[in-house]
Amino acid sequence: SLKSLDSNMVSKVKVVVRVRPFLPEGPRNLTPCVSVLSPEYPLTNEVVVHLKDQETSRNKCYKLDSFFNQDDSVSEIFEDEVCPLISRMFRGYNATVFAYGATGSGKTHTMQGTNELPGLMALAMSVIFSMCQSSGSSTEISYYEMYMDKCYDLLDCKEKEISVFDDKDGKVQLKGLSRVPVSSMSEFCEVLSCGIHKRKVAHTGLNDVSSRSHGVLVIVVSTPSNDGSGLVVTGKLNLIDLAGNEDNRRTCNKGIRLQESAKINQSLFALSNVIYALNNNKARVPYRESKLTRILQDSLGGTSRSLMVACLNPREYQESVHTVSLAARSQ
Ligand code: ADP
Ligand code: MG
Repeated sequence: SLKSLDSNMVSKVKVVVRVRPFLPEGPRNLTPCVSVLSPEYPLTNEVVVHLKDQETSRNKCYKLDSFFNQDDSVSEIFEDEVCPLISRMFRGYNATVFAYGATGSGKTHTMQGTNELPGLMALAMSVIFSMCQSSGSSTEISYYEMYMDKCYDLLDCKEKEISVFDDKDGKVQLKGLSRVPVSSMSEFCEVLSCGIHKRKVAHTGLNDVSSRSHGVLVIVVSTPSNDGSGLVVTGKLNLIDLAGNEDNRRTCNKGIRLQESAKINQSLFALSNVIYALNNNKARVPYRESKLTRILQDSLGGTSRSLMVACLNPREYQESVHTVSLAARSQ
């Protein structure tokens, strides 16, 4: 399952792996099920990720763009992979960052982080604010959730479903989605934590919808062009905590869980098909096969850059194989 070594195509969607640490409350002296094969790393632009089941010694290798191990902080991913996307926003380009992986693999930790360890969302916002000062740009955010193929505005006081439609120019729009201007980190954190709270308590009766829905934070930067024309260029960054992907052969989902799981897998599969088409220069990119890819069409492919962070739990071999094989398949 190695990607051919002679492929020198420009990857439009980068796929990197992040392995989360073992949890301090778990057993000691565990060996992670995932490592990177030397000597390739870090001598080339790609890495060979080696997955090994400690019990049975079964193992698999996959080729990906980069690897962040248990000791690497989120700042390293941010500086290496996300920062370059941000400077382009001020020139009117869009970008998307996905956290992808099973439940418990560290997606939310990577995107949201904690007060002590800010995730990619806060790190991005902070750099955007400091760049705004020199460029005179302004910033607005939206935050929505996609659950069972429906969009919900997380910054609106009501639990409002947002309809998705094509405007007369053929661009996909989210009808009435809130856009909240933010101009400082404290303002941003306040607005975002309100949305995060909403995501946790919404959908009464169903528990932990947050890991079974896609959470999308959109940061829009508007920059006055410096040629005196009065024009404004806008760039957009989508930061997405994807729903946990599941291997239905292993889980015994029933009823609503099975329906959720089917929707999740459908949209993740559609996303991986889009990334595959983009990275392999296919004439047709199947954006319209899921609501998620339809909404992201203007920020995925074309002049946009995207990054997928495949998150892994170092204790879960089978689950990691499932995640990495889908991530590698996209390339
Ligand atoms: P997911 O969103 O993929 O379901 P979480 O982000 O909730 O997973 O992470 C699962 C658990 O692992 C949480 O307890 C989280 O605090 C912890 N965790 C994940 N990534 C890290 C990390 N890089 N450093 C420390 N703890 C982490
Ligand atoms: Mg989560």
